[in-house]
Amino acid sequence: MKCLSCGNSVINDFDLKVLFGFKEFIPDNICQFCRQQLNWLDPDNGCIRCYKQINENICDDCLMWEKKYNIINCHKSLFEYNQFIHSYFKNYKRYGDILLAELFSKDLYQWSRSNKFDLITYIPASNGHLQARGFDPVWEMYRQAFDLTSMLTKVDADKPQAQKNRYERLQTPQTFYCHSNNLDISRNSSVLILDDVYTTGRTMTHARQALEIVGFNNICTFSLSR
Ligand SMILES: [Zn+2]
Ligand SMILES: [Zn+2]
Repeated sequence: MKCLSCGNSVINDFDLKVLFGFKEFIPDNICQFCRQQLNWLDPDNGCIRCYKQINENICDDCLMWEKKYNIINCHKSLFEYNQFIHSYFKNYKRYGDILLAELFSKDLYQWSRSNKFDLITYIPASNGHLQARGFDPVWEMYRQAFDLTSMLTKVDADKPQAQKNRYERLQTPQTFYCHSNNLDISRNSSVLILDDVYTTGRTMTHARQALEIVGFNNICTFSLSR
């Protein structure tokens, strides 16, 4: 198998548990060389609400979400946003290399198996972006590892979050609404919202508020990177 990022061979290790059927075999799409360029976020070392790698128990952003919006943030993430992740998203989203949707499929699959939720949804692309790009990057990235339910609609915003500075990000108005008001599911269900990258948390808190308006109150969020 070839690494989807650099084309080097990927060595997949079969162990005895896989061989005797006690464990699922999940092929990896990323090679060891590329893996070495990833930094795993340490959940025990940083903000307990968002995995920000700082020396405080709860970071300033999460304190602000609580004070200003009454949100107790609950965000989990796998990798630190670094040069490798930056280039990955440039090739995947800006240049539209859809094969890269599966680069992290093994890591996402493993995370999804050890973190259970009743309902899993995602941050959708706006219609404008969907038409320009031809695919929804967040849905493509997570659709294999998670059983996704479409609940949110994003209306076209002035400009993409990635092109905004920190102040502009935090000032962004609500651009989501929940289109599944009639979902026949208990509002006490645990809900997970997926996005690709987490920066200030503005996008996620808006998505979360859109679900809170229709009655959900047990919401966590997840991103590949932060
Ligand atoms: Zn590679
Ligand atoms: Zn935090």
